[in-house]
Amino acid sequence: MIGPARHRRIACDEKLTRVRRTTDIPVIAVSPRDVRASGRGWAEASMKPGSATNIAPSREAPHAVPRLTDRPQGFWTRGWEWLNGRANRGLLRILLYHGVCADEHEGEPWVPSHYVTQKALDAQLAALRRAGTVIDLREGVALLRSGRRWNETLFAVTFDDAPANLLTRAAPVLAAHGVTATIFACTDRLEDGGLLDEDARQALYGLAGRRATAPGSGPIEVGRIDPQVRDDLRCMRWDEALAMALMGHWLGAHTRAHVRLSQADPARRMAEIAGSVNALRRRLKTTAVPFAYPYGQSDDFGAEDLNLLRALEVPAVCTARPGANAPGGDPLCLRRTAVGLYHRPTRFALEMTGLLDARRRRQAARRSPDRGPEDIASRMVQIASEGTDARPE
Ligand SMILES: [Zn+2]
Repeated sequence: MIGPARHRRIACDEKLTRVRRTTDIPVIAVSPRDVRASGRGWAEASMKPGSATNIAPSREAPHAVPRLTDRPQGFWTRGWEWLNGRANRGLLRILLYHGVCADEHEGEPWVPSHYVTQKALDAQLAALRRAGTVIDLREGVALLRSGRRWNETLFAVTFDDAPANLLTRAAPVLAAHGVTATIFACTDRLEDGGLLDEDARQALYGLAGRRATAPGSGPIEVGRIDPQVRDDLRCMRWDEALAMALMGHWLGAHTRAHVRLSQADPARRMAEIAGSVNALRRRLKTTAVPFAYPYGQSDDFGAEDLNLLRALEVPAVCTARPGANAPGGDPLCLRRTAVGLYHRPTRFALEMTGLLDARRRRQAARRSPDRGPEDIASRMVQIASEGTDARPE
């Protein structure tokens, strides 16, 4: 008899085999030796050379692998899920996640609103699998490039900012569902495993701390943040990111230091984009490194950024512009649907139908092109106090 862990292993193996078969983008470009060489960390202890998929985060991970969710859904949730499957038929909807917090930390002032709980991630992946098929973004890019149409309802999962909690909290859930994700990391943070400035300010001052001018506008005193909170919010280090790649996840670049490209000078833009893509290419030993714009709305990047990415021949570029991707769409302008703590099951199922896409686009368009971080942070505070969603980062 095959136990649940063995089932999960088989699901992952089948998934990776399928990804390898359907795309020319390398699935695993690093070896366990590369990960060990990149530093000592959590990943080292749980690795056995020669096999990528036996790196199950069971021995060292502080969080148990959850059971697959298959609990009965409410009437409205089931209805929206049915519509979700119908509305996305023939489309590829890419989900935009950030970090995953412990279930008991939901509602803590230091948890960003664009996080989800581990329980919610489990339930959401189960909902997507009921409505359609969750594919690897590499398969999605290959499909878009081919120009073919498809009849299935397709989803792909991405995570921005690469917090270390993906290794401890998201990876077991993804493995349980046989899902491989795309993870966009800031390469300067991979060097030091530090916090993003916005997350550090929120940890110190609550949601108001995300405002650029108050109260955390000076140097960030990271030492004042509770060590446990700091550890929950910090970004992955290289060894942890490479361990995720060994599990079959696709690593991508998200600039070097999470810079809003439209507000940087041309030299800085080039350094942020080319520097991050090339750093990942060197470590992963492949040119197939995708890219995601920080903040990701239309006024957060420009045509020159896209031209540079095209010149670098990156295989895919993700924005945070809402919507689904149709056959023949440009893999260098991928739309994504942001998910956060504000997505209860019914709201999540409704969001996935695409019925809210037009509203999301209007919300993004209302932002003036010359808005600075302060205005955006003010809007986030306002949105959060209204109990609705905040914009993705
Ligand atoms: Zn980001």
